[in-house]
Amino acid sequence: MTTQPAVRADQAPTVKMLLDGAFIESHTTEWHDVVNPATQEVLAQVPYSTDDEINAAVASAKKAFKTWKNTPLAARARIMLKLQALVREHMSRIARTLSAEQGKTLADAEGDIFRGLEVVEHACSIGSLQMGEFAENVAGGVDTYTIHQPIGVCAGITPFNFPAMIPLWMFPMAIVCGNTFVLKPSEQDPLTPMLLAELALQAGIPPGVLNIIHGGKRSVDALCTHPDIVAVSFVGSTHVGNHVHALASQHGKRVQCMMGAKNHAVVMPDANKEQSINALVGSTFGAAGQRCMATAVTVLVGDAQKWIPEFVSKAKTLKVSAGMEKGADLGPVVSKNAKHRILGLLEEGIKAGAKLELDGRNIKVAGYEKGNFVGPTIFSGVTPDMTIYKTEIFGPVMVIMGVNTLDEAIALTNSNPFGNGTAIFTQSGAAARKFQNEIDVGQVGINVPIPVPVPFFSFTGSRASKLGDLGPYGKQAVQFYTQTKTVTSRWFDDSSVSGAVNTTISLK
Ligand code: NAD
Repeated sequence: MTTQPAVRADQAPTVKMLLDGAFIESHTTEWHDVVNPATQEVLAQVPYSTDDEINAAVASAKKAFKTWKNTPLAARARIMLKLQALVREHMSRIARTLSAEQGKTLADAEGDIFRGLEVVEHACSIGSLQMGEFAENVAGGVDTYTIHQPIGVCAGITPFNFPAMIPLWMFPMAIVCGNTFVLKPSEQDPLTPMLLAELALQAGIPPGVLNIIHGGKRSVDALCTHPDIVAVSFVGSTHVGNHVHALASQHGKRVQCMMGAKNHAVVMPDANKEQSINALVGSTFGAAGQRCMATAVTVLVGDAQKWIPEFVSKAKTLKVSAGMEKGADLGPVVSKNAKHRILGLLEEGIKAGAKLELDGRNIKVAGYEKGNFVGPTIFSGVTPDMTIYKTEIFGPVMVIMGVNTLDEAIALTNSNPFGNGTAIFTQSGAAARKFQNEIDVGQVGINVPIPVPVPFFSFTGSRASKLGDLGPYGKQAVQFYTQTKTVTSRWFDDSSVSGAVNTTISLK
């Protein structure tokens, strides 16, 4: 395969693939525009990699695994130390690209990178993370120990909403555990992952250890069915995650799927009013609601139901503009399709009888008339049967529901189809403790609206938010990317005389 010119005549720059340590032009005929959602400027064109290119990426990773798996732990850790330094150094440059292709504000783009950087920092501790266990004298003269070995070629499939953080959830942990990796980033914002890949090579990741292909369903299905891929990590919608889990599992792969959400925040009447309203307006409308951990449903308990006017007036203070603009609190949603879908759901909410307290449908943003903007929107009087309650809107929409007791709030949250994140706002330790004990959701915040854990803890989920036993964070990530081998050993002294033949299973 040869490298082609970077820019095709009269067209936007093309996004390269990373194959065998080189940035390569695709030979495909299928391309997708990478569009700035605030301006509609076509920033680049991303290829849908051909089957040959996908196979070449997997073959390169398979070849590189033979040597990479035996690279000393300290050498792997040193590469991660270098990578974290490079990501830190290039943070503002990456953030500008991220904001341009995804739409989020510059400050939030830096947050996206920073939360990924924390995973790279965590990967630097691989020496202790990958340690096994040892027990001496499990039987006379017999010792047993476990080793955690890399598993082979792993694949990652990522969504559009965190183009830095989620690729960084995956390839650093996979690689530092001794595996090689093929990443398929979202076709909507592939420029940020490619910048990270450049830094990964600069940090010393050898050819073939990290490969990047592009595309949509065909590329994803090719990875899920490829005989040389042993594990698939997916983050994205529930619909696609269910498909990936079924297909990759049928093909014998280890699979983890982190999927959609409808996060409930429960506000008790004793909560600090100003802090709770600030927190929830931020977590609902930040990133234009396009976070898997965004607050989607605000459940007001008892007298807290009187706070709706304050939620509305606080939401009205937010500045909607292009992510690059100073002072912007939220940017556009990622695509025209996404905006169309969100507006359709808002119409359904109105038709179903929910009360539109704040209408963001017709927002105009001066200087960005073509942008995919949706202003902060608030519905109250929402009931569990309404589509705006049951469906992940993934836009800047606050769905407010009222209940009388904490028990009702817990029952409501636990009966929602999703179980990704939740939060309670209260001054009562007893209420918070009851909530953390009885709620069936992966991440729980107590006066913390977006409880995304730091990477040495687990990131999990319930019901339609997660498939697969092992999550992408903490000890679970190391378990996901390694195979435990248990060794039972006996060493005889040269002088020892073997006993009689042992025909039992006992360690005699
Ligand atoms: P998506 O499911 O549309 O896309 C995810 C990936 O799958 C992309 O790489 C895409 O190219 C690919 N894909 C799309 N359609 C496919 C198909 N039919 N078959 C195979 N592959 C396909 O998700 P998105 O819109 O990019 O991201 C938003 C979703 O991700 C939301 O539902 C959000 O809640 C979820 N998300 C979850 C978490 C989590 O940790 N639980 C984190 C971030 C995002």
